[in-house]
Amino acid sequence: MVVCPECTARAKKKILTKYEEEVAEEDRDRQELYKLYDEVDIPMEMDKNTKNFICKKCGLYASREQISDIRYKLNQKERTRDDKSDDYLEWWNKSKKDKNLDS
Ligand SMILES: [Zn+2]
Repeated sequence: MVVCPECTARAKKKILTKYEEEVAEEDRDRQELYKLYDEVDIPMEMDKNTKNFICKKCGLYASREQISDIRYKLNQKERTRDDKSDDYLEWWNKSKKDKNLDS
């Protein structure tokens, strides 16, 4: 199944904003956030003639390749944003840092 990258990114952003508002920083749990992300389900419909996909919600019309491309770019953007925030970086990299101490 193909999901709309634009709508999914928007929905996830909304969930993250809400999560940050409602959950104190020390109580935040990545798994919990991912679980909320998993509930986002915005499928696209396939145009049988062109084999392109269309999103009924935002009107995005693209081929499977274009959709992967959009998703990749949106992920990149998201990562850049996170890198700029020290709080986030700290939260995100905690497990990684623990591992680095061993080496
Ligand atoms: Zn959409």
